[in-house]
Amino acid sequence: MDSITSGFMDGKAMELPCEVCGASLQTTVGEARRAAALQCPNGHPLTFDVDAFDASIRTSEQRVESIMKSFRF
Ligand SMILES: [Zn+2]
Repeated sequence: MDSITSGFMDGKAMELPCEVCGASLQTTVGEARRAAALQCPNGHPLTFDVDAFDASIRTSEQRVESIMKSFRF
């Protein structure tokens, strides 16, 4: 079941604003959830809770999957 939901949203583009300089890091959900550390384009470390982010993405993916399962195409 994990293999079905894993990566469902990985291609989605997202941006993370830097709290120091205001520049935004352009990334994707897949990159962000796998990153050990993230930096803005000017090299500031971004405070980003990868574990919490990954958990929230998984929840979204599972929610989408359960909606998909309730329909028969
Ligand atoms: Zn910055």
